Amino acid sequence: MDMRPVSRTILVAGGAGFIGSHLCTALLAQGHKVICLDSFQTGRHENVAALTEHPNFQLIEADVEQLPEVRERLDRVYNLASPASPPAYQADPVRTMMTNVVGTNNLLALAEAKGARLLQASTSEVYGDPEVHPQPEGYTGHVNCNGPRACYDEGKRAAEALCYDYLRADRVDVRVARIFNTYGPHMQCDDGRIVSNFICQALSDQPMTIYGTGEQTRSFCYVTDMVDGLMALMELGETPDAPVNIGNPGEFTILKLAELIRKVAPTDARPEFHPLPKDDPKRRRPDITRAKALLGWAPRVPLEEGLKKTVPWFAEALGRTEPASNR
Ligand code: NAD
Ligand code: UDP
Repeated sequence: MDMRPVSRTILVAGGAGFIGSHLCTALLAQGHKVICLDSFQTGRHENVAALTEHPNFQLIEADVEQLPEVRERLDRVYNLASPASPPAYQADPVRTMMTNVVGTNNLLALAEAKGARLLQASTSEVYGDPEVHPQPEGYTGHVNCNGPRACYDEGKRAAEALCYDYLRADRVDVRVARIFNTYGPHMQCDDGRIVSNFICQALSDQPMTIYGTGEQTRSFCYVTDMVDGLMALMELGETPDAPVNIGNPGEFTILKLAELIRKVAPTDARPEFHPLPKDDPKRRRPDITRAKALLGWAPRVPLEEGLKKTVPWFAEALGRTEPASNR
């Protein structure tokens, strides 16, 4: 029997972003051909610079809303194309909604035409400000459909609806991952999310900006654990008939996160309290019973360990962007 691993052609929409760039790297390492399609709205060339020399890597600069013709055969499509940080997705909310609805529909149609399987990067934001804790996939959520987060939350909810319409009609083999807060190298200092904000503030001795009292919670997953979970869901033999939460159930207040980051990146930065943004969820923690049972997957990197891998990467990135006179 031929035991060589299968080499597939895989399109990663949003592949130049934070999670997407790690996914492209992991897929190339498994011997697959990777086509990274990205508009660079929030992604960066730097994230995939090391991959561009790889013979199995191809980069297409395009928007999923105006998908170009893809001539290659495709076996798999990962849809990660969407801004993910609240300031980024709120900067052009109509575009965010359209990226998630029109873009996802375009990728589903492409997957159908190619006979490819599609994994949709959904989000814990579909649960909104949850009244059920921790959040299992069966919880239908508590989302404000006309607030400032709605462009993203409702865009992702509509994208899930599209995915299951294609699946029920037997048009595309679809898998939906509900991703919880993820962190690691390749996030951007100015992207506005909590882990990158705190690390960059600590490293540059700037005040650490705490929104509200800091007693709200999040559960943080290290990026390599996330990529392993996404790939396991994509390659699962049987198609699950419902979404799967992928995240780390370790739950931390924002104050505790600040304390941990100060431990890993000793700093003179002091806390600075700011108003809590509207509709900011109070608690968030994934119930990963389904991921464990279906995929045999569970996160392996605890928060403090993940921060120890992340801080040096940011220190180097900050060094690179320092004015030449300071180097
Ligand atoms: P990111 O912003 O770093 O990456 C998103 C990528 O998509 C970027 O490279 C961006 O340029 C690209 N993109 C955006 N709009 C596009 C468009 N219209 N056409 C083509 N490309 C487009 O964010 P990330 O953290 O890597 O998130 C990746 C995916 O995972 C997103 O779909 C996000 O909603 C989802 N997600 C992430 C988290 C998290 O904590 N990181 C949590 C939940 C869900
Ligand atoms: N937050 C904060 N300071 C910051 C950035 C974020 O206190 O500089 C808070 C934010 O209000 C939220 C939590 O940290 O309660 C996580 O925010 P993030 O934007 O990273 O993710 P999301 O709210 O989408 O889970």
